[in-house]
Amino acid sequence: MQKVLEEALEIGKQYIEYGNCASYIPELARVDKNNLGVCIITKSVDRYTAGDTKKRFTIQSISKVISLAFALERLGHEKVFEKMSMEPSGDAFDSLLKLDMASNKPFNPMINAGALATIGYLVADFTFEDMLEYARRVCMDKNIVMDETVYESEMSHCARNRAIAYLLQSKGILEHDVEETLKLYTKMCSLSVTAESLANLGLVLASGGRHPETGVRLMDAEAVRLVKSIMLTCGMYDGSGEFAVRVGIPSKSGVGGGILAVVEKRMGIGIYGPALDEKGNSIAGQKMLEYLSKTLNLHMFASEL
Ligand code: GLU
Repeated sequence: MQKVLEEALEIGKQYIEYGNCASYIPELARVDKNNLGVCIITKSVDRYTAGDTKKRFTIQSISKVISLAFALERLGHEKVFEKMSMEPSGDAFDSLLKLDMASNKPFNPMINAGALATIGYLVADFTFEDMLEYARRVCMDKNIVMDETVYESEMSHCARNRAIAYLLQSKGILEHDVEETLKLYTKMCSLSVTAESLANLGLVLASGGRHPETGVRLMDAEAVRLVKSIMLTCGMYDGSGEFAVRVGIPSKSGVGGGILAVVEKRMGIGIYGPALDEKGNSIAGQKMLEYLSKTLNLHMFASEL
């Protein structure tokens, strides 16, 4: 396994030059795009790492997985999906076109409109500390904190998310304070994680929401099933379809360069590679996952070897 991981890293490195760090959040543009790391933690809790797996970076959109699970557990499925669909949008993560013209509901909770709606349901009754505590628990990483610099940077460059949030309010989807919703959403995007924390979360999800060693339930089983299904169809932005064919592992990416991947009942994978492709997915990360999927036979529809 270690050898395969190191090979994956070498393959990933060859693609870094074709990607770039996200630039619409100035603080993310300052990150070294050559960072690259991958961590696998298996069901038997064997941990394999290659590259920069301990470097902290902001979770960005991967927080949508955590917020969705939190909301499903606290508010229930009916409330969360009352005014939101679970369909891939086929549009960029920050698009508001279809929300305004083709539907009055966010397409799914993995795009910004849907994640803002999800946070909007929570903001009146839960604090950032409640959600941070949950994030630490499900990632089994007590060192997760909010990266203040990235938070400030994003808050001063979030005109587009602000526009989405006010559009949601105009449609009666955001019922509470829009600015507070925007702040909580952005704080969740600014959580600092590592490839290892993402691999931990992947393993918890792969284990149906249970702690891999103690068996203690960390996440609700039904929420976990739903979250993994939506990761498969919507987790890689408008690249989700091709990624499902090529890699076949439910995953969620973030513009900070992270990818969380869940190999059902087998392992969690965490990736850090901030050079992104034009859709916002880690370019080297996807190549590494494709290699791992092929070499370790991880595709969810792989034939028996
Ligand atoms: N905080 C980012 C935003 O709202 C998250 C985007 C992402 O990772 O896709 O634009």
